[in-house]
Amino acid sequence: MEHYICTQCGTQYLETEKPPENCKICTDERQYLNPQGQQWTTHTRLKRSHRNTVHTQGEGVIGIGVDPQVGIGQRALLVQGRDGVVLWDCVPLLDDGLAELVKAFGGLRGIAVSHPHFHTSMVDWAHSFECPVYIHSENRPWVMRPDSFIRFWDGERMELAPGMTLVCRGGHFPGSAVLHHDRDGGELFTGDTLYVNPDHRSVTVMYSFPNYIPVSAAKVRHVANAVEPFEFRRIYGQWWDAVIPDGGKEVVRVSAERYVSAIQGKDDE
Ligand SMILES: [Zn+2]
Ligand SMILES: [Zn+2]
Repeated sequence: MEHYICTQCGTQYLETEKPPENCKICTDERQYLNPQGQQWTTHTRLKRSHRNTVHTQGEGVIGIGVDPQVGIGQRALLVQGRDGVVLWDCVPLLDDGLAELVKAFGGLRGIAVSHPHFHTSMVDWAHSFECPVYIHSENRPWVMRPDSFIRFWDGERMELAPGMTLVCRGGHFPGSAVLHHDRDGGELFTGDTLYVNPDHRSVTVMYSFPNYIPVSAAKVRHVANAVEPFEFRRIYGQWWDAVIPDGGKEVVRVSAERYVSAIQGKDDE
């Protein structure tokens, strides 16, 4: 019996004798099936063939990746809070060296995941550090390895830790969330709920990133309005170095206006 991991998206599944027929996350149009066919691995195999990478992404924020890439190239963040370290989002691999490093930091207070493309091996991480994983209840249908360490939360906001608040207003997935931290003028950790564009000066909201399917103007406003009451300067996005160092609140406001006017534009131009 194995907890199989989809190599295309990095999602780990409940223990089975044979791999599942296909991956529910990849058959969804927000991701895509491997054109070469469905392939699987396991955490044990990944530990032999891959390693974690660790790079600072900002003050008190350490990025965690996997080399060579597995899944969609997820990058998680260790966020140093006033009262312990929180893991924002997750990656498919936790190697022994990284586990030791995190333990040296005092372990994890909790894990919070923005949406299903970062669920990956979150249950293995939770077991290693004996900490809860916070998932918005609207994303429950995409939890492929249910576990007693997973805590589902409801509504628009949840206090995760002192100074740290989870905020959900959907968009990409119905339970897509961001994490607000009140340190140093405010930080927003967005996964791809508010996707940091390559210019690092604007953000976007998409139903499907790989298939370029946008959301409605109303949904963009919903997501932007959800973070409007919070103060924040920096935005930490979804990939390595996708960081907006300052002016983040204005970036969200302007990006949302640009999006709405583009999607509601006239066709005769
Ligand atoms: Zn998959
Ligand atoms: Zn996504």
